[in-house]
Amino acid sequence: MSNKTPKNNYQFWLIVSLAIIIIAITYLSRSSSAVEITQRRFDEMLRNQDVKEIVLVNKEVVEVTLKREAIEKTQYKNLLLQQRSPLALEKGPHFRFRINSPENFEKRVEEIQKDFEVDKRVDVKPDTRSDMTNMLINLGFILLTFFAIMYLMRRMTGSSGPGGQIFNIGRSRATLFDAENRVKVTFNDVAGLDEAKEEIKEIVEFLRNPTKFTNLGGKIPKGALLVGPPGTGKTLLAKAVAGEANVPFFSLSGSDFVEMFVGVGAARVRDLFKQAKEKAPCIIFIDEIDAVGRSRGRGSIPGANDERENTLNSLLVEMDGFASDSGIIILAATNRPDILDSALLRPGRFDRQISIDKPDIIGREAIFKVHLKPIKLAPDVDVKKLAAQTPGFAGAEIANVCNEAALIAARKNKTWVEMADFQDAIDRVIGGLEKKNKIISPEEKRIVAYHEAGHAVAGWFLEHANPLVKVSIVPRGVAALGYAQYLPKEQFLYTTDQLLDDMCMTFGGRAAEDIVFGKVSTGALSDLERITKMAYSMVTIYGMNEQIGNISFYDSKQSEYNFTKPYSEETAKTIDNEVRKLVEKAYERTKKLLLEKRKELEILAQELLAKEILFQNDIERLIGKRPFSQPTTYEAYLNGQENTKQETNNQKQNPADNKQSAEIAIEPKSAE
Ligand code: ADP
Ligand code: MG
Ligand code: ZN
Repeated sequence: MSNKTPKNNYQFWLIVSLAIIIIAITYLSRSSSAVEITQRRFDEMLRNQDVKEIVLVNKEVVEVTLKREAIEKTQYKNLLLQQRSPLALEKGPHFRFRINSPENFEKRVEEIQKDFEVDKRVDVKPDTRSDMTNMLINLGFILLTFFAIMYLMRRMTGSSGPGGQIFNIGRSRATLFDAENRVKVTFNDVAGLDEAKEEIKEIVEFLRNPTKFTNLGGKIPKGALLVGPPGTGKTLLAKAVAGEANVPFFSLSGSDFVEMFVGVGAARVRDLFKQAKEKAPCIIFIDEIDAVGRSRGRGSIPGANDERENTLNSLLVEMDGFASDSGIIILAATNRPDILDSALLRPGRFDRQISIDKPDIIGREAIFKVHLKPIKLAPDVDVKKLAAQTPGFAGAEIANVCNEAALIAARKNKTWVEMADFQDAIDRVIGGLEKKNKIISPEEKRIVAYHEAGHAVAGWFLEHANPLVKVSIVPRGVAALGYAQYLPKEQFLYTTDQLLDDMCMTFGGRAAEDIVFGKVSTGALSDLERITKMAYSMVTIYGMNEQIGNISFYDSKQSEYNFTKPYSEETAKTIDNEVRKLVEKAYERTKKLLLEKRKELEILAQELLAKEILFQNDIERLIGKRPFSQPTTYEAYLNGQENTKQETNNQKQNPADNKQSAEIAIEPKSAE
């Protein structure tokens, strides 16, 4: 395990150690090597009686050591300082030079010293040294450094303390949760998501009791992919598995494989599986797997994404590599399954896809209950109402609402959190911060009130439109002037009627302005955008137009950059005309409806101006029940058990109904 460091690691440390060695050698040679001089210069030194010692090395080189007091003489000092640091002046030998004949040299030394007193004479000491000495010293030094570094590397790869991070570059970053290191999240902390929980529990069961399944000839799945929008509890669910599985649980995120060095990702994948095999049976959880699992060769500059592809390839290989009874199950989570490589998704790798959707009203209630537990609640807090007022919210947003509500209540020094605080919190999560001191002229406020009332009335009296949940004209960060929140039906298929009604409801704002003030404002920008998109989709994508016919120009495999239109100029003209007709018709219809309901419009607008926020039951009180027999989900839900049961039954029949394609129509108004 410890020796498995990839090549680039060695390269890096080789470079570092070489740099150290070079610096060391230059420094050392500066401090101890002798200065090269000529023989004449030496003669002079000898004559001046500055020499303390003469060594004849291998009958070739003479090394001269000066007397201590002589070193201070400027002529020598200057010479020495060329090569040595001032601190290392004293250490001999100081000078050296080559000679041709040792006999001649010795004679010469004697000759120069013949007039000196005997005890002042210096003898030539012969010495035999291997020429390699210096080299060997250096080599020894290099080897020593090298081994020291190797030793360090090994030791630090062996221990996995935080200090070893750099040395651990090729090791997997997975955190291991097992008997000693437990996660405290349990399945009870995960509200709703019943189907997903079932699937996951079954997978855990596979690990605990494989024979039960293999006896019948089945194979244990290798992996499961949790798929769903952000904040719906994928990571939470995985944590709960870690908390309850009673098998070792490796947790890491896709980006943990990514490193700037080439080959590291693949090495980490291999290391992860090696560790996992040692701990089997176990679970590996890779969060946000799209970081490595992005489909290969897509949107890549040729040659640029090699590293990610290598990582993915080694992941694929490792997933194939272990036998299905090896007791490793891989969980992964992503909110972008569409960009995952198809090889990763095929059976045999991630056999199962567990889709985790945004919670429906029942799920939201359950999630609220989980997150309300630690909060001190006032008696007026109604969980069902909260769930009804938050269509389209994911678990993370609900958790956020609960927390915000507590903070808002604390700011007001309340002893408990009241329903009003939750309402504020919901508004805040949808629309951003309330802008208390934003100045809106009364005239503008009137326009906004009629605009929103127009939406509300239109939605109320159109059979197939989504009924309103709440409308607010409190200026906020995102929704600059006001917003209307609708309760979408939980459905996938829309009929032409529904789309047309939806279009009319969206037109409600502008039509109301037109009727009441006789002029329109820029406040309907986002409405118009939505309507235009919808109209073009109906004509060109859904084949809902008679002129164009049952033709769809939609290309599901279309790349992002496609400049050619798949139809002729003539068809383009027809499309434009048909869209225009469609939109005009919708507008006329809306206007007609609002003119009929002018009284209701007035009532709602006045009430909005007075109260700023209206809920569904306020609207019911003011303008009566919706004149359609079918109860809204909200009604069904609030009106007690029987209806609710019906609702759940429906869901059982068609699991797709669980999905709430919730759209909160927030209208950022551009009128400033
Ligand atoms: P993601 O699906 O993006 O991984 P998380 O699992 O990280 O989302 O969820 C974020 C937070 O949202 C969680 O920590 C939890 O507080 C809350 N949450 C989401 N779904 C649920 C749920 N089903 N039950 C309880 N809390 C949830
Ligand atoms: Mg997550
Ligand atoms: Zn609007």
